[in-house]
Amino acid sequence: MIVSTSVYTLQQILTNNSQGIHFIPTMGALHQGHLELIRQAKKTPGLIICSIFVNPKQFNDHIDLLYYPRTLASDIRLLKQNGCDILFLPDAKEIYPENQPDYIDIQSFGLENVFEGAFRPGHFKGMLQVVSRLLSIVNPSVLFMGQKDYQQQLLVRYLLEQRFPNIRMVMVPTVRESNGLAMSSRNERLSTKTRELAGLIYEQLLEISKNLPSDEIEINVQEAKNKIQNAGFDVEYLEIVNASDLSLKNIVNPDDHILICCALQIEGVRLIDNILWPPSHIN
Ligand code: AMP
Repeated sequence: MIVSTSVYTLQQILTNNSQGIHFIPTMGALHQGHLELIRQAKKTPGLIICSIFVNPKQFNDHIDLLYYPRTLASDIRLLKQNGCDILFLPDAKEIYPENQPDYIDIQSFGLENVFEGAFRPGHFKGMLQVVSRLLSIVNPSVLFMGQKDYQQQLLVRYLLEQRFPNIRMVMVPTVRESNGLAMSSRNERLSTKTRELAGLIYEQLLEISKNLPSDEIEINVQEAKNKIQNAGFDVEYLEIVNASDLSLKNIVNPDDHILICCALQIEGVRLIDNILWPPSHIN
């Protein structure tokens, strides 16, 4: 595996490349969720490029940025073992040279301001800025992103449509710990007891989905919220929405494509999760 820390070297390496590029941007502290993106990318021929950059601009909470796990030695070992060809490991000066625009103006139909956008002001602005910059540098043919960050991948789809129409997006289903908790770099910061208890989140998302289709979704959602809340989690949101635009649903019909999504906090750690319904409409 080649490790490149500068845009110049990376682009030198890529000058003679004739294969398609499969790109997986990350913030490091790699776990099986990230590695699954590589495994999916390796299913078709192409050069696998992963990036690790903890993007300060997408953290609205400086404590979260301060405590974000950084495990570079282990990340490099995992990337090598899993067949990554090139690791792009830039610093902030490479990603944000002085001439970079600090706002990527895309039409997102309000998607930037709901759910994650509402609870983490500025997060998506920073995310779009870094993804856009990385795509301009790497120029991939396929971009791999996780379903765990569903709203992020929807916004990135708009970014691709409007700014990078030649790049295709593949969304990879969420990889979970054995109790169902969605894998996340932030899980490392949970106590053992809470990490076990957090299996309840996925369990309750599934519980809601079992009652669908339904015209009484509010009752089901409220019950699930209460169970999660009573276990000590501070629920920021738990909603049933249209999978295509995240608009709220009051009734779920048999032919709807919906997302059940939530965000909560415990022990100073913010967790997000979601499931699609019906499960078979994952692309
Ligand atoms: P991050 O390092 O958290 O920015 O994540 C990098 C990429 O990995 C994003 O596209 C995430 O959606 C994806 N990802 C993170 N956790 C998981 C998971 N548990 N399952 C699948 N993809 C994930």
